[in-house]
Amino acid sequence: MRPARVAIIGGGFAAVQFAKTLRNKLSQSQCEILLFNPENYMVFQPLLADVAGASINIDAAATPLRQMLAKIDCRMESVHRIDLAASEIAFDDGRGALQHLHYDHVVIACGSESNLSIIPGMTEHAFGFKVMRDAINLRRHIVTQMEWAEATRDPQRRRWHLSFIIVGAGFSGVEVAGEINELVRSSTRFYHNFRKNDVVVSLIHPRDHILPEVAPTLAEFARKRMEKAGISLLLNTRAVAATHEGVVLGDGRMLTGATVVCAVGTATSPLVEHLDVPKERGRILTEPDMRIQGHINAWALGDCALVINAYDNKPSLTTGQFAERQGRQAALNLVRVFKGEPTRPFRFKALGELCSIGGYQAVAEMFGTHVSGFLAWFLWRSVYLFKLPTWSRRFKVGLDWIWDLVFPRDLSFLNSDTSKQFTHAYYRQGDFIQRQGDPARVFSIIEEGQAEVLISETPNAPEKVVAVLSKGDFFGNAALLENRPHEASIRARTVVRLRQASSTLFSEMAGSFAPLRELLANAVIRNSDELWRRLPVAKPLLDRESLASFLDPLPRSPLTKNTSLGDAIKSLQESAAGQLIVLDENNRLWGKLDRRDLYQMVARIALIPFDQRATLSQRKLTDFLLPDPLCVTLQDSPFVAAGTMLRHGIAWLPVVRSVDDAEPVGYVREEKFVDFMLHKVATAKEDIATSAVTPTDQPLRRSA
Ligand SMILES: Cc1cc2nc3c(=O)[nH]c(=O)nc-3n(C[C@H](O)[C@H](O)[C@H](O)COP(=O)(O)OP(=O)(O)OC[C@H]3O[C@@H](n4cnc5c(N)ncnc54)[C@H](O)[C@@H]3O)c2cc1C
Repeated sequence: MRPARVAIIGGGFAAVQFAKTLRNKLSQSQCEILLFNPENYMVFQPLLADVAGASINIDAAATPLRQMLAKIDCRMESVHRIDLAASEIAFDDGRGALQHLHYDHVVIACGSESNLSIIPGMTEHAFGFKVMRDAINLRRHIVTQMEWAEATRDPQRRRWHLSFIIVGAGFSGVEVAGEINELVRSSTRFYHNFRKNDVVVSLIHPRDHILPEVAPTLAEFARKRMEKAGISLLLNTRAVAATHEGVVLGDGRMLTGATVVCAVGTATSPLVEHLDVPKERGRILTEPDMRIQGHINAWALGDCALVINAYDNKPSLTTGQFAERQGRQAALNLVRVFKGEPTRPFRFKALGELCSIGGYQAVAEMFGTHVSGFLAWFLWRSVYLFKLPTWSRRFKVGLDWIWDLVFPRDLSFLNSDTSKQFTHAYYRQGDFIQRQGDPARVFSIIEEGQAEVLISETPNAPEKVVAVLSKGDFFGNAALLENRPHEASIRARTVVRLRQASSTLFSEMAGSFAPLRELLANAVIRNSDELWRRLPVAKPLLDRESLASFLDPLPRSPLTKNTSLGDAIKSLQESAAGQLIVLDENNRLWGKLDRRDLYQMVARIALIPFDQRATLSQRKLTDFLLPDPLCVTLQDSPFVAAGTMLRHGIAWLPVVRSVDDAEPVGYVREEKFVDFMLHKVATAKEDIATSAVTPTDQPLRRSA
């Protein structure tokens, strides 16, 4: 008889324990076990903080699955889909092609993922703390901050490099805060330009006590010890956003620091998200024996599953302890299924909790007894040492820990050139993205939001807005291409999200792709051709007027985002100006439409499958237009509106009430500004006109 095929998805605590137990009970001739995991190692997550804090070597927290799981077919492949009805999984074969595999039983143990998007700006500016890559990147970043703090002559900048902010004081937040504090403070003796007192480690937590998972007395002990070690605890405090400068707190204060670690927020893995099974808050609901509700050959365990613990009738905790025990008990249940015996419900009494708080201190709750201090730390380390999956790992980690007790932590790191990466950046309304006169470091493209360009014409003159930028606009290219400081400041007008390329990557891209280089160079020429440079007379003339005096009224019945394409085209044909504004459900500006947009629509229509084109005219505008168009506000000067149109090569712009209220109040057209200036220049006294018009004296034209 062919051996039963069991496919295990995941290579963490639950999956590994399941595979080990099943292999111990059933031979290869009885059961074929395949284990799919994107990496070829298992990560021992409780040791990630030690990796980040350089108290153990990186590889000590990762154990090769193949060496740990003899007689199991370990596959370094990600499972993309599970077809529960057909008992089939689809996985990536490593070369980008999907392979299909039939199974007799499937075990879903793919854990959860970190979710930085729960706090704006965290995805762009914070380190998650869930996978090995997070710990390695964080360690490299911490050491880099110390090096940069040593190099800078600016005391404020030094303090920023030496300020570390951790968001969330659960187990992982407390452990990583303790490790960062220990690493940085114990390393200050190797640097000359800063001392322990210059280091700031802050732990932000929304509740009034840290470590909600342990007894209040232990949590209180941990709090006191951490404060004594120099960690600032900001309790009853929420982090509401992260930016390049640090973390914005609920009360509006800004906590500055070059390092932000986000130890809160988990998300369902995409595999589970797309699985059509009963779930609660993203976790798969199981029967007491850990089979997925309504399925006889599909099991779910570990962090991705919601398994009720028969010991106390409560949902199991999402901890390694529970995942491991579920792995064991589910494997035993599968053996019972093979033997035709009744399965048993999951039942487990947790052994206790252990948490390291840095500085050879820990808190522990074991078998109902509370232990804290060095003894708890020793217990913590011993327990984890014996939980490590192989003896070789135990020796390796044990030696590291002894080494760490005697010798200083290792400050070297292998640099896998991060200067060649694209990154994201998040800015709040009013934040400066770049400053006039600063050296150029990055090339930025706006992905979301609007920003304003500010220029100070003479060194000490106040900066003034000259144009507005929006989605798709880019900047930083001129200074990078010409190797000079920025000629303008850029400030976020709304929340702005950017995609950025480092100077190294930018030079490489611009150097390698001739068309891109040409596009960027043309943009530099176009921007240096801006209104304020080409026609200085425009500035005083237009600045004196209010934008309201140039406003054209809105059409009586504006389009909405739900208007059909057919109706929109009809309105455009009937409109004398040929410029229409599109509103959202709250009557705020959603989009804009003019005849030029129709060409882009035709291009988009070409991408729609032929058989769906018959109903095109009934489709909504949302299918064709991009939201959040470039606009100016009533508070902007006519000069800013004219400059923005010239910079973008457009002939009209919607005007909204204010930056915070996108209610459209009308629109402005290029012709009106030109008419106005022609009239003013023609009727001005001789000396004003000749001194103000640029030497080139070119006519005002739209840039390409
Ligand atoms: C920093 C940190 C510290 C922690 N400290 C402790 C602690 O001290 N004590 C404790 O008990 N618990 C601790 N935990 C929690 C514990 O690590 C988790 O509860 C445990 O890892 C869950 O095990 P799991 O097997 O369900 O998932 P995981 O261990 O997360 O393993 C899931 C595996 O599935 C893989 N996978 C995901 N999607 C796919 C796919 N589509 N195809 C194939 N494979 C896939 C993943 O790559 C991963 O290897 C900590 C967690 C973190 C992040």
